[in-house]
Amino acid sequence: MSISVTICPDAQRKPIPEWTQGLGFGKYFSDHMFMMDYEEGAGWKNPRVVPYQNLVMDPAAMCLHYGQEIFEGMKVYRGERDRVYGFRPQDNFARMSRSAQRLVMPTLDEETAFQGLCELVRADERWIPPKHGYALYIRPTMIATDAALGVRPSNKYLFFILASPVASYYPQSDDNLNAVKIYVNDKYFRAVRGGTGEAKCAGNYAASLASQWEAKQAGYAQVLWLDALERRNVEEVGTMNIFFVIDGRLVTSPLNGSILPGITRDSVIRLARHQGLTVDERPVSIAEVISGVVSGAITEVFGTGTAAVISPVSHIAFCGHEHQVANGQSGPIARRMYTDLLGIQYGRREDPFGWTSVIL
Ligand SMILES: *Cc1c(COP(=O)(O)O)cnc(C)c1O
Repeated sequence: MSISVTICPDAQRKPIPEWTQGLGFGKYFSDHMFMMDYEEGAGWKNPRVVPYQNLVMDPAAMCLHYGQEIFEGMKVYRGERDRVYGFRPQDNFARMSRSAQRLVMPTLDEETAFQGLCELVRADERWIPPKHGYALYIRPTMIATDAALGVRPSNKYLFFILASPVASYYPQSDDNLNAVKIYVNDKYFRAVRGGTGEAKCAGNYAASLASQWEAKQAGYAQVLWLDALERRNVEEVGTMNIFFVIDGRLVTSPLNGSILPGITRDSVIRLARHQGLTVDERPVSIAEVISGVVSGAITEVFGTGTAAVISPVSHIAFCGHEHQVANGQSGPIARRMYTDLLGIQYGRREDPFGWTSVIL
């Protein structure tokens, strides 16, 4: 499909923020956005890059009432030889199609979505921070737009992509990743097998807010989620997948239907195996985590996700006790994964997996 491009007039362009830590995450949006429409019978149509603008929709639009809404998150990087790279963008669009199927939404025209991403990045090239660790965060979103009450799948949808320049998650260098304290809440659960935990749908995040809020109040950065059926196995941490280093092996929870299949998770597994580490995808109980942290068998705990890439865990609070992981600092495997993944993402390192795509 050919994509129409309407460039934002100079007078309406926003000032570019400074490329400093104050950039933060998700605070600024670029001058353009990509949109396309879906109608039952006609399929995807009218793909377009337009100036960033408010959406006009009927207050009865179904996404506002029944939460038929999915999204993605990925980054675009200004890297080696001044090129612009994407990291596994096709995997994000494929995951979005799987999320769509779970919510009875139309699967994406993935090729047009990718072309739309490229056109958007071309229009907003000056919004890509030219700094290692900084990136243009990309937020594809799909919402149900039929104006009707009554719970059923919508017949009309809007797909759009926003772009937001973001700072590096870590203010200092690669070998000083700030480790965070996490909190196990056994009152609230994120997802259950058979539910929507493996779809990146808005409702999951609404459901997680109460637990996140309690964790924040208690002085913790993230929630460590347990499985909702047995309240036994560790599933994820905040909006990240979770890894442990247990007796020198890298261990992560298996994709059991309630865990979001992270692209960073998959990348860490493949990179670690490529480097000769043993990786086990197996259930890990909270009892094993606490006893392993206490005995020292667990030497590292870290989360993985697009925003932070790797987020080491310093302490785990469970049943009123706080346990420190090793020396409470980021460990060598977390640091190596961070450095090596960033190296691939910015085109600085050899990419044996074909993960990077040159966007510009
Ligand atoms: C997005 C997300 C992740 C991480 O996925 P990536 O593809 O690595 O960014 C993990 N868990 C949840 C709940 C998420 O929403």
